[in-house]
Amino acid sequence: METKLELVKAQPDHAHRWLIEEARGPQSRGTCRVCGTEKMFRNWLEDADFITNEEHRQAA
Ligand SMILES: [Zn+2]
Repeated sequence: METKLELVKAQPDHAHRWLIEEARGPQSRGTCRVCGTEKMFRNWLEDADFITNEEHRQAA
């Protein structure tokens, strides 16, 4: 998966790798580590587990 990062950069339909900031409110900002796109994620989870979702979204 890690080695695929460089290849994905040139693809417009890559799977975004969301790096999600620590929850500080109703929403957290996620930044794609591949293309830098930002997206707001709802913090329906209160625990720090939310941050680890990055790995899950990678597979999505
Ligand atoms: Zn992206």
